[in-house]
Amino acid sequence: MFVFDERLADLVLAYCRERLSLDPVPLDYGGYDTSFSELLEGLLGPSGNDPQKVLDLFTERLATAVISHDSPRFLSFIPAAPTKAALLFDMVVSCSSLNGTSWLLSAGAVAAENQALGVIAELAGLPAEAGGTFVSGSSAANLSALLVARDTAWVHGHASPGRTRIALSGEAHSSVTKAIHILGAEPLVVPTADHHLTGGALAAALDADDDPSSVVAVVATAGTTNAGIVDDLATVTAVAHERGLWCHVDAAYGGGALFSERARRRFAGIGAADSIAIDPHKWLFAPYDCAALLYRDPSLAKAAHTQDAAYLAALHTAPRVPGMPPAGGKGGGEDPWNPTDYAFGLSRRSRGLPLWFSLAVHGTEPYRDAVDAVLATARAAAELIDETPHTTLVRAPELSIVLFRRNGWSRARYDAWSAQLLADQVALVVPTTWEGKPVARLAMLHPETTLDVVKEILDSMA
Ligand SMILES: *Cc1c(COP(=O)(O)O)cnc(C)c1O
Repeated sequence: MFVFDERLADLVLAYCRERLSLDPVPLDYGGYDTSFSELLEGLLGPSGNDPQKVLDLFTERLATAVISHDSPRFLSFIPAAPTKAALLFDMVVSCSSLNGTSWLLSAGAVAAENQALGVIAELAGLPAEAGGTFVSGSSAANLSALLVARDTAWVHGHASPGRTRIALSGEAHSSVTKAIHILGAEPLVVPTADHHLTGGALAAALDADDDPSSVVAVVATAGTTNAGIVDDLATVTAVAHERGLWCHVDAAYGGGALFSERARRRFAGIGAADSIAIDPHKWLFAPYDCAALLYRDPSLAKAAHTQDAAYLAALHTAPRVPGMPPAGGKGGGEDPWNPTDYAFGLSRRSRGLPLWFSLAVHGTEPYRDAVDAVLATARAAAELIDETPHTTLVRAPELSIVLFRRNGWSRARYDAWSAQLLADQVALVVPTTWEGKPVARLAMLHPETTLDVVKEILDSMA
């Protein structure tokens, strides 16, 4: 029924080839004023359409109404800059229907994903036994990790599962607040010192609290999304462990900077975390959707996340067939390593493989160089802003997010300017808020974002 069609394959592959070779990727426009109902009317019905026509509709009318996250002029939210090798291998993952749920069915794919996780774990300084899985994004990673923290609280000496609280700072990502809500837990918001969560502030908050034993975990952020600020991980992990708390580090955006020797100093202490979330689909140059979730002690995660069902028992207890290799762990060992045991969700795409392939093809050095290049551009952008008479740097960037003011502008001025900047295809820069006031925000992670683009942006504010 759905037989292989050479022409359809050629059409789609030709488009993929063309999209991959765009240099630079055009920024394009989003969906602010566009309506698609007429365009899409009647397209999906009992009988199909000519593939060429459908593809043209997509490439000419739909794809152009998507702002390209991978354009070097996309400087808002968190951009994307996947390597071509990773993008191409993502197609292989799709074309092979790679399902990386279990060792029993997909040992080869799982071993390769675990090798990629191992590179990240080593950069972070986690012990060799650390492991985990790739999930769809750090929202899913944060939720999965905090579920383990909650369910294993007794390991850390919390006897009463009655009330569960999780400490975090006001700068933690919205997905962390959401995860706490989903888990039926309550937040304990710890005040920050110059926007950084510190161990001292955590200890003081626990000391001042009338129910500290209900606090089972703390979330530190290694690269806040709004400002790229790295919490004081060394003191937070130390205090967390003194007080028997699980320490989760949300390094969704900032984790890529572990590749930079210079930036890595800011992450001192991350290796002592109980769990870490890092989005390769952000600063590790992988395609969507890919988040690395790592646990210091994966057995705790396995106890919390393993799904039990009659038909799944075979995944956990596969007998050894004489003459066949053992059911290996992360890439050896005896216990089957099932990625599905380390996060919520069962079926999973082998979404770590594009990163694995790209790391294998390129080696880690270009990753280090790309991250260093982005960090250097962010520092240069900050200097330029400082020297420009009509702008004021809000603070020196710790990583690659630069906040600054156009002197004298209201929020409405920023909004109007931002819309015009996109209309002119100069850049996507949307304003944010800092200490209650509107500011402009440049989120950099594309290695090809140049200082010239920043100059164009600053000139447009004159
Ligand atoms: C992006 C981000 C998240 C959410 O990650 P998704 O991959 O979008 O789900 C969580 N925390 C931080 C710090 C982030 O930057």
